[in-house]
Amino acid sequence: MSWFSFHGGHSGEFCAHAKGTLDAVVRTAVERGFTHYGLSEHAPRFRDVDLYPGEEALGTEGLASAFRAYVAEALRLRELHAGSIELLIGFETEMLPPERWADAMDALRRAHPFDYVVGSVHDIDGRWVDYSAAATEGLKADLGGAEALHLAWFARMTTMVETLQPDVVGHIDLVRKFEPAGFRFGPRALAAAERLLEAVAATGGALDVNCAPARNGYGPPYPLPDLLAMARRMGVGVTLGDDSHGPETVGIGLELSLAAIAAAGYRTIRRLDRRNGWRDVPIETVSPR
Ligand SMILES: [Zn+2]
Ligand SMILES: [Zn+2]
Repeated sequence: MSWFSFHGGHSGEFCAHAKGTLDAVVRTAVERGFTHYGLSEHAPRFRDVDLYPGEEALGTEGLASAFRAYVAEALRLRELHAGSIELLIGFETEMLPPERWADAMDALRRAHPFDYVVGSVHDIDGRWVDYSAAATEGLKADLGGAEALHLAWFARMTTMVETLQPDVVGHIDLVRKFEPAGFRFGPRALAAAERLLEAVAATGGALDVNCAPARNGYGPPYPLPDLLAMARRMGVGVTLGDDSHGPETVGIGLELSLAAIAAAGYRTIRRLDRRNGWRDVPIETVSPR
């Protein structure tokens, strides 16, 4: 049996919108039956305009030093808790700053001994898609409607995947965060999503089946069932992500991710360990210990 998540482990120690210490996150992961746990702190931002709300006091310099401190603490905790859990150390990307995000993310990746990278996008043209319903509605209106937003989103995700070739592809339909229950993408958006999934298949990444929306009242796990079924038909691998932002959210809702994967027809889930790399493990062996 194994139980794992490869997107999450944000902590209040290194992330202004998370809670608790990283050590408390790891101890909770042990208590909640994880055998492997991925830490994927947000990449720092490099321009003041790209700071997340609440990071103004920290500034870009503060973010850069917090990120270095995150890696050092994660490495320390990996040794400290090695007898109880395998920690995988990574980070979550951004497509920021707009004109040099690829170089910025590559430089971060090379600067530290990361086990893996979660390729995520949270913005279009520097405007967040996941901050508030009003902000996303404003973006939708400025781009020319829902379909235009969705096409821009999936095209952007595709560029990110082709460029960074991430191990895990984060929340591929984050753009629908504020859509009402029962929301489904239209045919042109689904065609754009199919191109994204072709890129994921070609670069060998695994989709993050992320339970945060289910936990926070924003609908089913990312990706929606239609997208997950398409991914399964195309042979795209999947893994689990709790997107935890503090000890209290560690593993919460992850059984919904597992159920979504099973419902899409998958028989295996990808798991990373430091000795063997990525392996496909049978779905019936995936549960807390
Ligand atoms: Zn976060
Ligand atoms: Zn994210």
